Amino acid sequence: MNTFDVIIIGGGFLGLSTAYQLSKMGVKTLLLEAGDIGGGTSASCSGRAQTCEGHLDPLNIQIIRDGLARHETLEEELGVKYDWRKIGLFLLIRSEDLWQRWLERSAILTRAGIPTEVVDRATLQKAESNLITSGLLGAAFAEEGILDPLKYTLAYANAARRHGGTILGRSKVIGFEVQNNKITAVRTSKSTYYGHKVAVMTGAWASRTTQIAGITLPIQHTHAEAMVTEKLPKVLNNGIELADFYETIHGKPRAVAIGVHPQNHGTLDISESVTKTNLLHKGVSAWGVTNMAKELIKMLPILEKVRIVRTWGRPTSFTPDEQPLIGWVPGMDNLFVATSLVETITAVPVLSEWMALMLQEKETPVSIEMYSPSRFSHLIGKNELGVLTA
Ligand SMILES: Cc1cc2nc3c(=O)[nH]c(=O)nc-3n(C[C@H](O)[C@H](O)[C@H](O)COP(=O)(O)OP(=O)(O)OC[C@H]3O[C@@H](n4cnc5c(N)ncnc54)[C@H](O)[C@@H]3O)c2cc1C
Repeated sequence: MNTFDVIIIGGGFLGLSTAYQLSKMGVKTLLLEAGDIGGGTSASCSGRAQTCEGHLDPLNIQIIRDGLARHETLEEELGVKYDWRKIGLFLLIRSEDLWQRWLERSAILTRAGIPTEVVDRATLQKAESNLITSGLLGAAFAEEGILDPLKYTLAYANAARRHGGTILGRSKVIGFEVQNNKITAVRTSKSTYYGHKVAVMTGAWASRTTQIAGITLPIQHTHAEAMVTEKLPKVLNNGIELADFYETIHGKPRAVAIGVHPQNHGTLDISESVTKTNLLHKGVSAWGVTNMAKELIKMLPILEKVRIVRTWGRPTSFTPDEQPLIGWVPGMDNLFVATSLVETITAVPVLSEWMALMLQEKETPVSIEMYSPSRFSHLIGKNELGVLTA
C-alpha cells in the first residue's frame, strides 16, 4: 500500500502538474505537501501566464509559446475552471537603454511567434488614463494570460486524484532512508512511504529538502511581499510591470518593483517589494508594505484612498545562472529535482509532461539537458543525512 513508482515532494504548480501527468500515464504516484495544497508560493502568486519577460533562448521560447497555447484547452482537460483569460501587459520603460533593449527583444519575440511591440508614452497614456506616465519613455506591450492561482493548483490536484494519484496535504517530509546513493523511503511524521523514484519539487525549499538526503543544491531565493485591494471600479485595462523588473530586484538587499494586475473579480493584485534573505517565510514587513504603497500611489494616485484587504509574502527560488533546475541529481541514483522555473504558470503545462516522461526514464520530445543539475556539479555539496525539524 505504501509503495509507489514515484513520490513527489511539494504541492505547488510543479509537483501537482507532474503528479497529474504521471497519474494520467498510469504511473503509481504519491505527492506529499507539508501544508495546504498550493500553500507554498504557487497559490499566492499573481496568476500571470507571462509571455515576454523570460530568457530568449530557443528552448524557453518554445516552452512559452506552446505553454500559452496549451492553456486554451487545459481547463477543459483538467475538468475545472480556473478563470483563464487573456490580458494585455505594459512593461514600463524608464531609460533609453531599456528602450533599445526592448526594441531588440520585441523583434526576436515577435519573429518567434510571441507578438510584442514597443509603444511611445502617448500611446501608453491613451490606453491607461489613470497611469502617471511622466518620466517614462513608453512601454513594451504583449498579450499574456491570467488565472486564479489557487483554482489552478486545485485543478491539477483534483485531476491527479481522478486519475488515481494520491495527493496528501499536511504531510511534511522530515527524513529519507538512503542506501548506496539511493533513496529507499521517505518519512513524514505520520508515516513512511517507499518509492522507486523521488522527485523534490519544493520550490524555494528545494535545497533544504535535498539536504535531508545529504545533498546541498545551489538554490537561492528572494522574498517578495504582495497585497490585494478591495473590489474597485475599473482602474486599469491591462497589467502593468516594470520593463527592468529583474534588474530592479536582483542582487540588492531590498527593492520595490511595483506591478499592478487587474484580477477577474475586480480587485487589483499589487506586487512586489523584495528582500534578500536566507530565511524562508511567508510574512510581510513594515518596510515592504509601506514602500510598496508609496510606489503604487506615485504610479496610480487614484488608488490613494483605496483599502488594502490582505498582504502576504512568499519566497521564489533562483539558480546561479537564473535558468530552471530540472533533472536527476548527480551522485544519487533516483533523486530528481525541479525548481526555479521562469514564467512558471506558462511553462508548467508543457514542462510537467516532459518531467513525467523523464521520471519514467523516457525521452522528452525536446532535450532539456541545459536545465540539468549536472551543470552545477562543482557547486553541489554533500552533507550528513539529516532530519527536518523546523
Ligand atoms: C508575489 C509573487 C508573485 C508571483 N507571480 C507570479 C506570476 O504571476 N506568474 C508566475 O508564473 N509566477 C509567479 N511567481 C513565481 C511562482 O509563484 C513560483 O515560480 C511558483 O509558485 C513555484 O512553484 P513550485 O511548485 O516550484 O513551488 P511552491 O509553490 O512553493 O511549492 C513547493 C511546495 O513544497 C512544499 N514543501 C516544502 N518543504 C516540504 C517538505 N519538507 N515536505 C513536503 N512539502 C514541502 C511547500 O509547502 C510548497 O507548497 C510569483 C511569486 C511571488 C512570490
